[in-house]
Amino acid sequence: MRLSKNKFKEDLIKKLEKERATNIDEASELDIYYALGSLIRDYIAENWLRTNEEYIKNAKKQVYYFSMEFLMGKLLVNNLMNLGIKHICEEALKELNMDLDKIEELEKDQGLGNGGLGRLAACFMDSMASIGVPGHGCGIRYRYGLFEQRIIDGYQVEFPDKWLQNKNVWEIRRKERAVEVKFGGNVRVIEENGKLDFIHENYESILAVPYDTPVVGYKNKLVNTLRLFSAEAIKKDFDFSYFNRGQYMKAFEYKHSVEAISEVLYPNDAFEAGRNLRLKQEYFLVSAGIQSIMRTYKRLGKSIDDFHEYIAIHINDTHPALAIPELMRILMDEEGLGWDEAWRITTNTISYTNHTIMSEALEKWDVDMFKNLLPRIYMIVDEINERFCRELWNNKYHGDFEKICQMAVIAHNEIRMAHLAIVGSHSINGVAKLHTELLKKQELKEFYQYYSYKFNNKTNGISHRRWLLKANPELSKLINDTIGKGWINLPNQLSKLLKYKDDPVFKEKVHEIKQKNKIKLANMIREKHGIEVDPNSIFDIHAKRLHEYKRQLLNVFHIMNLYNKLIENPELDIYPRTFIFGGKAASSYFMAKQVIKLINTLAYKVNNDKRIKDKIKIVFMENYGVTLAEHMIPAANVSEQISTTTKEASGTGNMKFMMNGAITIATLDGANIDIKNAVGEENIVIFGLNEKEFLELYRNGTYNSIELCNTDIRLKKILNQLRGGFFPVKDDEFSIIYHSLTKHNDEFFVLKDFDSYVKAQERIDKLYRNISKWTEMSIVNIGSSGIFSSDRTICEYATGIWKTNLCDRHY
Ligand SMILES: *Cc1c(COP(=O)(O)O)cnc(C)c1O
Repeated sequence: MRLSKNKFKEDLIKKLEKERATNIDEASELDIYYALGSLIRDYIAENWLRTNEEYIKNAKKQVYYFSMEFLMGKLLVNNLMNLGIKHICEEALKELNMDLDKIEELEKDQGLGNGGLGRLAACFMDSMASIGVPGHGCGIRYRYGLFEQRIIDGYQVEFPDKWLQNKNVWEIRRKERAVEVKFGGNVRVIEENGKLDFIHENYESILAVPYDTPVVGYKNKLVNTLRLFSAEAIKKDFDFSYFNRGQYMKAFEYKHSVEAISEVLYPNDAFEAGRNLRLKQEYFLVSAGIQSIMRTYKRLGKSIDDFHEYIAIHINDTHPALAIPELMRILMDEEGLGWDEAWRITTNTISYTNHTIMSEALEKWDVDMFKNLLPRIYMIVDEINERFCRELWNNKYHGDFEKICQMAVIAHNEIRMAHLAIVGSHSINGVAKLHTELLKKQELKEFYQYYSYKFNNKTNGISHRRWLLKANPELSKLINDTIGKGWINLPNQLSKLLKYKDDPVFKEKVHEIKQKNKIKLANMIREKHGIEVDPNSIFDIHAKRLHEYKRQLLNVFHIMNLYNKLIENPELDIYPRTFIFGGKAASSYFMAKQVIKLINTLAYKVNNDKRIKDKIKIVFMENYGVTLAEHMIPAANVSEQISTTTKEASGTGNMKFMMNGAITIATLDGANIDIKNAVGEENIVIFGLNEKEFLELYRNGTYNSIELCNTDIRLKKILNQLRGGFFPVKDDEFSIIYHSLTKHNDEFFVLKDFDSYVKAQERIDKLYRNISKWTEMSIVNIGSSGIFSSDRTICEYATGIWKTNLCDRHY
């Protein structure tokens, strides 16, 4: 938008007066934050309204992205950037003796997600708005997002994330657009004129109140919507029925039980919860979301038969898979369609992304629990299952009970959400080439054989505007000065940087910027953690959720080995390194929490051991989230992407790091493979078993971790050090880790890949000594990162799955 600095200052001062009843001399930083937020929303409003009007007027096909998680981070600077007024705002604030960075710190992260899956949804929001896809987010407005992590005595301790404590300046509550969501009760079936009617009775009704947040496209005047629903008691029930009966306290109990639905995000990453409240949350989201879509659709005045021509609903993993029976319910029970017609519309509307092949993450619901909570939805799921099984029997697997049982939506008293999602949608995609291949060849092979046309790949991506333009302003400026600003809209233009990889002036600048970013992070580490780290050391960063398959433990063992070698020989020539970790463990995941304790215990020992002369330092940064990631990633020299192969469906952290010039040390897993293909083998450090070797070893069961420990003296020593005496902790503190690697045969092949990892780390050490060559590799990584922009990903979804836009851009 066009805006002069003076006009902006004027507007801001007016806001301060009107909304904060203060003036520029008296205003606190918080006053400024609120006034600024309100002002930016004003600036957005006109385009937001116009975008919505145009969508209705032109009856453009709309995408609704359903996700239980949206990990949006902060919105202030992103909105300023996308409006094209960040610079003006910065300058104006400076003249008023204010600092935009300081103001930004007051904004709480919108952390309504666990990790990769929720952040993907957030990056998709940005890309949809920026490349012009009419796409909206649909989610839950949790009162508490992912817990705040503090490290106390080396342990993770969880605290509530009070992100709404200060006013959320971006959202608009739309009470008048609330819808009712019904739970429990029973279904009475009546027959009228040969047609069955399903009457849902004795249910509990809950109000789903939408809160809308604008999603601003990059300098294109387009504003989409992120709609999050909050659960509220219906006024009449709350006010009268209990109060009238004199049950004062009961009235409040009722209110709280209702509000529990949108109270808190389940802190499980890649683990199914299997709990009643979680199922309630999932149905709450889809029922509210689809009812709200239905209302908008009605305003178009189009026939219900054409619903799927105007609406695409995408489900992020199976968490919103009840969208399938819910849409069926509305089409049949409320719109009066027959089963076949409703089914045609539903399957043509819905598409599904699979995010994992790990069995512990697959959602299954106990039939009795499900039936009690959602009686009408259960009937529909049951009918879907009946019809699907019959179809299999008639079309392909006559008499093959085993096959049909394997593929059924309901079996062994469980509802399998992945099967429901596959049967009820027209598209199933994996999130990186290897992952999609594994789905087809293994995990979903029966379904692939039956429905091959539904399967496709959409390799994940990240918003290069958040993860490069916003997170790394200095590097972005250098890129602008070198190749122009085209890359901000067309990220593939980053490849223009490749021809500067040998340019000594450019290289020097890239190196200098990395150093500056490292100094900033070092300062942050000093302030937050009181640890002194050397910005000239290699910054080796492992930041992501704590998970056995992500193998933070492998990283730890490498550090322990280095430490052991340094103690033996303090003169050992290693390039100084700072190992930086960040990540939360699910609160119930004891093993992962013990790994955090181990990292901190090791850090304390190593950082305070004078004998190793600061050659290695270890830092565990507290409370990893979007904002912390924005500080860490631009400062990384080395990106740790070391999951057990086949376990990380794609990963997106890997893309953020390479886009900021880190060199990846990686297994051939998920999108690491695609990164390797993009940058070339010489610009990434690969180690470990590949998919074939892993699966073979896994299947033939010949791997014996204890045997390996006994032959590798480095591992033997490390494992012994876990057992007592070495660390200042109880002897059995780390026994769960010890046993997982020995008694339980090292399920994630930490020990198996250890030797290969150590050698890879030695290659990193050698490579970094030639900083000129290293910087060249770094530039190749940045210049090859364009295809990992979520603009490319969204373009593929829009063209291949949603059929909303024909993307004619080249990626
Ligand atoms: C990108 C991101 C993730 C995902 O990281 P992976 O390395 O792909 O697991 C998790 N958390 C946050 C805050 C992120 O920004």
